[in-house]
Amino acid sequence: QIEIPDYVNKLMAKLNDAGYEAWCVGGCVRDSLLGRIPEDWDLAVSSLPPETKQVFSDYPTFDVGMRHGTISVLSEGHTVELTTFRMDGVYSDARHPDSVQFSNSLEEDLSRRDFTVNAMAYRQNSGLRDPFDGLRDLETGLLRCVGIPAKRFSEDALRVLRCLRFSSTLGFAIEPETLQAAMDARGLLEDVSRDRVRDELQKLLCGTDAAETLRRNSEILFSLLPELAPLASCNYETLYHRCSVWEHSLQVLSAVSPNPLLRWSALLHDCGKPACKRAPEKGTAHFHGDASESEQLAGMILKRLRFPNRDLDRVCSLIRYHVETLPLPEKRLKKLLGEFGGDWVFELFSLMRANLAGQDPNRLEEHLTALRDSQELAETILSRQDCLTLRDLAVNGKDLLSLGYHPGPALGKELSFLLEKVLSGTLENDRDILLQEAEKTRS
Ligand code: ATP
Ligand code: MG
Repeated sequence: QIEIPDYVNKLMAKLNDAGYEAWCVGGCVRDSLLGRIPEDWDLAVSSLPPETKQVFSDYPTFDVGMRHGTISVLSEGHTVELTTFRMDGVYSDARHPDSVQFSNSLEEDLSRRDFTVNAMAYRQNSGLRDPFDGLRDLETGLLRCVGIPAKRFSEDALRVLRCLRFSSTLGFAIEPETLQAAMDARGLLEDVSRDRVRDELQKLLCGTDAAETLRRNSEILFSLLPELAPLASCNYETLYHRCSVWEHSLQVLSAVSPNPLLRWSALLHDCGKPACKRAPEKGTAHFHGDASESEQLAGMILKRLRFPNRDLDRVCSLIRYHVETLPLPEKRLKKLLGEFGGDWVFELFSLMRANLAGQDPNRLEEHLTALRDSQELAETILSRQDCLTLRDLAVNGKDLLSLGYHPGPALGKELSFLLEKVLSGTLENDRDILLQEAEKTRS
């Protein structure tokens, strides 16, 4: 009942020919049974890592985790991870087993896995191997730990976050004992590597049920990102809308497309509001003040999660500009397109549109129209290939030097001045016209 791609079948057959067992396991089995297309295929194999490498000596292979028994094999352009059946030893750091023990039993291998829906194996001739009733949970949409939940979360606290992640991406409920144990173990998340936390959180945020998962499990999120806890008790109040800033953030989160950085921007777009309310002089109780406070706090959070600077800057700038007044004047729009690019501007519109839900419903149509107009204008500007940056300007520094400008700040200033004029439409982006203007300034 599961369609295994050819490039995976070939690997399985090769292992079988060499006398080893090979099973599809984990996410690929789960997703196939759900009728989703698996992102990647993982195999559990009875061969030891050196044996696996031996079998695939004529394939490109990579030792991704020899110690944990994993070899990556490149098959027809796809990477497939082959992991030896194993049992995990004691976990003394709430994250990594102190040792792993290779095993020759598939069942043992399945028993170390986190959730029943992730603990199923499949191969062509034997069908499904499902010792923990994962299929039943898959059918009812339930996440349940394999084994005793409290024990499984204390072994590896990342599983707490994985639990929420799968709840968000699969739209599954969390079985009560598993949920209670996840709540109880949330403090352990502090010790999990920031990179793993970031990756899981991001997958959670991109899930179709992200807002609902976070709404139900806000305590767990707040123990990871304590800066967000005050949002839950801070009122988001306009004349027309009353809820907590937290609830508003979740609504915006669920309304933007599942683009990772856009989702982060939505989650964090108002995170500075509580601080501004506590100290009104800081933000002068004004939304531009709130936005800059939010931007700062978001930057701190993302830095701690070890986001690359590029991503951090992108999220912060989306938060900074989401309070711009619509429709955006052409000059302003060109500036933003020049500085951040078209994709960013469309992400900004998405964030602004999502944020409108909290505003005056009587003016919603008007705001939406203003947004649509700005969006169309941005498209027009891009398709006209208008001049947006110094690079697009019909004159450059060399031209000004030949007019008698000296290298230095005055020259840069003049170029920026010309760009301003072109952006506002006062001057045409024409070489002769711009040279004439520069000549005028110089004399
Ligand atoms: P995705 O679609 O995101 O790849 P996945 O279920 O394949 O989902 P992976 O992180 O690729 O998730 O892990 C592969 C499998 O390994 C899981 O399905 C699960 O069986 C097991 N696994 C992964 N991480 C853990 C963990 N922290 N604890 C226990 N089992 C885990
Ligand atoms: Mg996977």
